[in-house]
Amino acid sequence: MNTLLLAPSELAAAADGVVRLAADRRLRHVRAVHRAAAGTVLRVGVLGGRLGRATVVRIDDTGLDLAVVLDREPPPPAPLTLVLALPRPKVVRRVFQAVAALGVKRLCLVAAWRVEKSYWESPLLAAAAVTAELVLGLEQAGDTVLPAVTLHRRFKPFVEDELPAIVAGTRGFVAHPPAAGRCPCDLAAPATLAIGPEGGFIGYEVDALERQGLAAVSLGPRVLRVEQALPALVARLCGP
Ligand code: SAM
Repeated sequence: MNTLLLAPSELAAAADGVVRLAADRRLRHVRAVHRAAAGTVLRVGVLGGRLGRATVVRIDDTGLDLAVVLDREPPPPAPLTLVLALPRPKVVRRVFQAVAALGVKRLCLVAAWRVEKSYWESPLLAAAAVTAELVLGLEQAGDTVLPAVTLHRRFKPFVEDELPAIVAGTRGFVAHPPAAGRCPCDLAAPATLAIGPEGGFIGYEVDALERQGLAAVSLGPRVLRVEQALPALVARLCGP
């Protein structure tokens, strides 16, 4: 946790400029990892709001009191919408964290032929569970703005009815290892990027995405896991 994130309600409840946090994951972390004591200065942010710093006023088993100064805006978002074939539950947690840490602000999880239907029943897709993983990614990267995550259980209606509005005004790509085109670097324009399931998109799906204006692109002959392909593609498209 590089940045401790406060809920807006915690900030609103501050008395005399001091935010009081109950004993929770954040307290355990700043004690165990930061070895915080009275006077320690921590990086903080407010979910959906500004970043800044907080001086520890009191810390004990019952909670944490912080004098908070919020003086910076969160970093700019990655100008990219991600369309991702739903990964298996073990991977999806890491993907949520990576999406938030990379600054992607819109994630559409979609069905595909090689996505097992049982994955949609995972408790990790419950809204609270998704938010918990996204917050870990924001804390890691020092951001405060949660990505919007939507679930699309049917590939064809999503691609034909919803994707056109998502792609409009962006450059679209589908990451596909055998594609002839190389993934471009440092796009100046907003992008829409589709990443396939562990077994890859089938030909029908690549064709359907291409019909909506997504160009098939490759990172080269090394076939990467989804959680490896994601940062490689986002870093390449959005560039430093
Ligand atoms: N055998 C599958 C295939 O050839 O498509 C491998 C799928 S890979 C484990 C999962 C997804 O990550 C792919 O569908 C693609 O979107 C992305 N990916 C992985 N390696 C890639 C590469 N070298 N170039 C482009 N995309 C890649």
